[in-house]
Amino acid sequence: MIKKEFKAESKRLLDLMINSIYTHKEIFLRELISNSSDAIDKMYYRALTDENITFNKDDYYIMITADRDNRTLSVLDTGIGMTKEELEENLGVIAKSGSFAFKKENELKDGFDIIGQFGVGFYSAFMVAESVTVVTKALGSDQAYKWESEGAEGYTVEPVEKESVGTEIILKIKENTEDEFYDEFLEEYRLGSIIKKYSDFIRYPIKMEVTKRKLKEGSKNQYDEIKEIKVINSMIPIWRKNKNELTKEDYENFYTEKHYGYDKPLSYVHISADGAVRYNAILYIPEKMPFDFYTKEYEKGLELYSNGVLIMDKCGELVPDYFSFVKGMVDSEDLSLNISRELLQHDRQLKIIAKRIKEKIKSELIFLQKEEREKYEEFYKSFGRQLKYGVYTDFGQHKETLQDLLMFYSSKEKKMVTLDEYVERMKEDQKYIYYASGDSIERIDKMPQTEFLNEEGYEILYFTDDVDEFAINILMNYKEKEFKSVSSGDLGIESKDKEENEGNENKEVFEYMKELLSEKIKDVRPSKRLKNHPVCLASEGEISIEMEKVLRAMPT
Ligand code: ADP
Ligand code: MG
Repeated sequence: MIKKEFKAESKRLLDLMINSIYTHKEIFLRELISNSSDAIDKMYYRALTDENITFNKDDYYIMITADRDNRTLSVLDTGIGMTKEELEENLGVIAKSGSFAFKKENELKDGFDIIGQFGVGFYSAFMVAESVTVVTKALGSDQAYKWESEGAEGYTVEPVEKESVGTEIILKIKENTEDEFYDEFLEEYRLGSIIKKYSDFIRYPIKMEVTKRKLKEGSKNQYDEIKEIKVINSMIPIWRKNKNELTKEDYENFYTEKHYGYDKPLSYVHISADGAVRYNAILYIPEKMPFDFYTKEYEKGLELYSNGVLIMDKCGELVPDYFSFVKGMVDSEDLSLNISRELLQHDRQLKIIAKRIKEKIKSELIFLQKEEREKYEEFYKSFGRQLKYGVYTDFGQHKETLQDLLMFYSSKEKKMVTLDEYVERMKEDQKYIYYASGDSIERIDKMPQTEFLNEEGYEILYFTDDVDEFAINILMNYKEKEFKSVSSGDLGIESKDKEENEGNENKEVFEYMKELLSEKIKDVRPSKRLKNHPVCLASEGEISIEMEKVLRAMPT
């Protein structure tokens, strides 16, 4: 038998493939299963367009069989199969996708979600296999063929016997080496979990023989091992289901199943978009902060699926940093399965999806804030800080998005309020939004500066978080009202301010004090703002006294 060589480019690509495109070896199984699913899809399509072919859903499945003794793993499908020519074309030339061609030829659009299109997935099998055998019989053909390859060296094709239409891919799994472990790809438990992880929502049953233990009759501790064929995947993903058919419990179960968090989600959003980019997404706002949330280890991102097949665990491009607490997933048929991290960053579709997701999260949060204040306060306790960080990072370019989500403790309401609520009830002649910074609400309450404004009936926002004042300095104003620290010299309350500068009887005392403290202060002035305190500190510049403290404490 003549061994045919792969085309030159193919050789190089194969090498690249095995060594660098995929970071996790386990994804070979995802690729093979996706190909099988494509092959069944094609069968289904043929049945739709050719009345001589019937498609009985029960006859279509994917079967995974591991044989530990012979070190083989087989992926069998009852799909459309390949002719000899197709074998040579599709598997002999790397980066040649028969599926892509099929899609184009048949002008398939909506509803036909064939996954393959790059023509490289199949070769990922060589990451775990020392040789790959493909036995296949095409629809409408009498002869079956066997394709065999040990990798870069080339491949052979020969006729074989095979009863039914479809394809079986048999991998001879590599031996373990000192630093690479391959045995796991022969273990049913491990295989099951890989299938669950990546291919849970393939639309056809993925079957596997599993071993179950059953108590021996009449025995209390002796078991019989029984082999049983089990369908591993759950097939219909919750995000493809109609929102009206789903209950809150369904969404909460999905959250738990997916290990998005140990808490219950505070709320969720289900998007089914049919516009320029088609995608489904389920987003969750967690109730509690993950224990590692404010550490470097925490990685933001959503699960990314292409047509029901998981391609990334945490796609960071899908959520902005300030919403890094959001959990969930996105599935789009407009994304390519083999897409790599680098390619993703430039993906236009992905950017459109990310923008929509951002808007959706914001409107969900605004909804909670307005309609379910308690929940929002709970959320804000965990993640408010993240929003405030968001305001001042990236040169404040997200402030428009975030300012309505902010809340601060109000001297008047004795609870958290939004900036909008504050501005709505400002006094008629009030120029500024007043704020006071300090370690705690109790301490701010006792500040001489707040005492005055409180007694005059002005509302003050209390800043107890380090980042508060930074965020506000970036915002500068809200609804055209400037922010003003209670420690600032000019509070914009006219009558009082004027009087202050008039009391000059004790000029000499003040001059003397100023001289004594010249290193530490700029000026000493009489004040009518004081109630129970003899003296208070005020600042004139942009930076308040509290903020100076924070800045000084920061590592340089
Ligand atoms: P892609 O799936 O991106 O097209 P692959 O390298 O995974 O690329 O597969 C190459 C081609 O081989 C497919 O497009 C398809 O035409 C053919 N093929 C692979 N596996 C099967 C299978 N199980 N049944 C039928 N055809 C297959
Ligand atoms: Mg493929």
